[in-house]
Amino acid sequence: MGKNVIIIGGGIIGLCSAYFLLKEGHKVTVIDKSDISEGASFVNAGYITPSHIIPLASPGKIAQGIKWMFNSSSPFYMKPRLDLDFFKWSWYFYKSSTEAKVAKAIPLIKDINLLSRELFEDIKSSGDLGDFQLERKGLLMLYKTEASYSHEIDVANKAKSLGLDVAELNSSELQIIEPGIKIAAEGAIHYKCDGHMTPSEFMPKMLKFLKSSGVCIKTNEEVYDISIENGLIKNISTSKDCYEVEEIVLAAGSWSGNLSKKLEIKLPIQAGKGYRINVNRNTGITMPAILMESNMAVTPMKGFTRFAGTMEFSGINNLVRKERVRAIANGAHSFYPEFEISEFEIASAKTGMRPVTPDGLPYIGRSSKIKNLTFATGHAMMGWSLGPATGKLVTEIISDKKSSMSLVGFEPERKY
Ligand SMILES: Cc1cc2nc3c(=O)[nH]c(=O)nc-3n(C[C@H](O)[C@H](O)[C@H](O)COP(=O)(O)OP(=O)(O)OC[C@H]3O[C@@H](n4cnc5c(N)ncnc54)[C@H](O)[C@@H]3O)c2cc1C
Repeated sequence: MGKNVIIIGGGIIGLCSAYFLLKEGHKVTVIDKSDISEGASFVNAGYITPSHIIPLASPGKIAQGIKWMFNSSSPFYMKPRLDLDFFKWSWYFYKSSTEAKVAKAIPLIKDINLLSRELFEDIKSSGDLGDFQLERKGLLMLYKTEASYSHEIDVANKAKSLGLDVAELNSSELQIIEPGIKIAAEGAIHYKCDGHMTPSEFMPKMLKFLKSSGVCIKTNEEVYDISIENGLIKNISTSKDCYEVEEIVLAAGSWSGNLSKKLEIKLPIQAGKGYRINVNRNTGITMPAILMESNMAVTPMKGFTRFAGTMEFSGINNLVRKERVRAIANGAHSFYPEFEISEFEIASAKTGMRPVTPDGLPYIGRSSKIKNLTFATGHAMMGWSLGPATGKLVTEIISDKKSSMSLVGFEPERKY
């Protein structure tokens, strides 16, 4: 028999969880403090990323972070601040940045990405949402320097050894597959295994489907408090109401750490702020690309081109740092020298916060302390890609069904 499930958070993870729970016959309510039209699940680059097999916490990242720490226009920025949670998170990040831990994470990241890519295809072919952009042209890693090439070829060889479809392109081959715009790069690694989408198209279509199928969507309603009795969540209180609870899914993105504190559970998560600029005119760009030396993403979305980037650890806030947005525009110009992002386009940049765990793996699974609580958060740079797989795994947990893949490594209360 279906259960009553309340999902806290209506980002890609919350909505995909609602989708699969609904399909399994559960009665679902999604509560979100926003109107579900902004934030990470709307501003992201829309990549479906089996290629992103290396977690953020990897050898060399701390040294790079320290080097960039005092430069607020650098692509990876940690704002120095007195914050105990941030100190602890940084220490766990440091402990996770070893070759051995990265090697352990790689197959998990690959498996959950491939599962999710397949589930996106299933959602599309079900026709539930009508038509939406879901393309599989792959992702170009464009490089200018020998150093970037040798870093990326190493990743590409690892990806190939895992069975992913990867090719190398020199500058003239590159210009053949992207003829509409001049590219200033030495070449590219082409991860043919990747796909891309338009988040601002998919999210409203998913919301509309869920609402019309009986999922109760509560917007502009913030979860304030959660009460526990005998190891079970009994009630949650929001800015508008109080709900009895049978099952809870915590999918509150970067806010999940703060909500977990109310449950006396330590869930190390930091917000990794990113920015996007949309260009609503013809750019000639048809291939998704990461501009390696500029550390940014470019995606041809439905009706516009998106330029996205930066990873800024400065707490949870929507402050737009102009120098960082400008760095994205300059980065685009350096790879596409005949193209320029206008001042108007720069001024309309938006932000979103990636929920980043110290080891780059999400938290998916039941709490070991609270029996009716399931975590679905901490997807960092891959939350868009991993929405469907997370929703499916959460549904299997709540329905007491065999899991589509092992959850070892994703345990929410894991030790660092
Ligand atoms: C610039 C940028 C580019 C990116 N590019 C990619 C990409 O190409 N591919 C990819 O896979 N990923 C990408 N990501 C990452 C991806 O966007 C995120 O990992 C993902 O959107 C996180 O989804 P989420 O549902 O966990 O969190 P969110 O989208 O943040 O949703 C969480 C929701 O919880 C709600 N909430 C929080 N607290 C409460 C509360 N107390 N009560 C009620 N509601 C609450 C919030 O309002 C929010 O709507 C990118 C991110 C950024 C910023």
